[in-house]
Amino acid sequence: MLKVGIPRALSYYRYFPFFKTLLEGLGTEVVLSRPTGKRLLEDGVRHCVDDICVPVKLFYGHVLELKDRVDRLFITRLVSVEKSDSDTYTCPKLIGLPDMIRSSVEGLPPVIEFVIDVQNRSLRSSTRRLGEALNASPSLIKKAFSRSLDVQARYDEKLLGGLTPEDAMEAVFSGNGSSDGVPAGSGDGPTPDLNIALIGHEYLLHDHFISHNLPGRLSRLGCDVEYITQVPPDVIESELARYPGISWSYEKELLGAASHFLHREDIDGVMLVVCFACGPDSIVGEIIEREVRTESSPPLTTLVLDEHTGQAGVATRVEAFVDLIRRSRGKP
Ligand code: SF4
Repeated sequence: MLKVGIPRALSYYRYFPFFKTLLEGLGTEVVLSRPTGKRLLEDGVRHCVDDICVPVKLFYGHVLELKDRVDRLFITRLVSVEKSDSDTYTCPKLIGLPDMIRSSVEGLPPVIEFVIDVQNRSLRSSTRRLGEALNASPSLIKKAFSRSLDVQARYDEKLLGGLTPEDAMEAVFSGNGSSDGVPAGSGDGPTPDLNIALIGHEYLLHDHFISHNLPGRLSRLGCDVEYITQVPPDVIESELARYPGISWSYEKELLGAASHFLHREDIDGVMLVVCFACGPDSIVGEIIEREVRTESSPPLTTLVLDEHTGQAGVATRVEAFVDLIRRSRGKP
């Protein structure tokens, strides 16, 4: 059976259930790269230009980890991910990802490029092209597509219900399709007495190596964690009405979710987690700090991550933030 490798980075956190179900339905075996570790990150950094964000460097590392173990490499080109009256796109790195990888990594197996460009091309049409490239019959493509949409919808539902991507995938693929699973933020820590919103790209927050397990760290400090994936799309949309003119879809989500959390009374603090060398994040981060936050908002802190960020630095920032909130609330 043809082995198709999917890097455990970037679009993996959002669309893996769809891709895996689709590729398996089209008769291939899906191979996922191993979780990020020190060596993988170092390899990615070595093969990448310096002035790029760490999630893209990680993507390189995952490609390198996979490339000699598979027959094909699956890479997404995320151009536009929402139908909108105005032009909205993802960031240039996500649009050019397959070209960047092809031009700078030697010895790659053939790349299967999957384009998501919903402003100009339907998902069904991209799926048909993929199926034809894999010599699948039209009826098999149709069946695989419909099943993939179902699985992805169940996954999105789990995220909305409070599971992390990892837990949501486990729930979906283990056939655990109802309301099972451990909500995000529940963990091995003390009984939570604070509610902290974590705002950031899922490929940053949920890569435990690069985020130094930020969600787990908060949980161990007695915090319940809420993610932007728990904010329903219509809520984000209505928040965004106050901040028109942002053309990056994923940053719009960060902005809408930040506005939602910063106006909620049951949120004790908001952590904005951004990447060093990310242009879109830096602009949206400034808007959140200057325009979204008000005097009555819960405390907000920004954490900038890159490959040099040390575990001790993250631990200190997180503990100080949580301590500060507890003291201001008069909690021990
Ligand atoms: S949005 Fe920022 S972090 Fe994400 S890929 Fe683009 S530059 Fe990197």
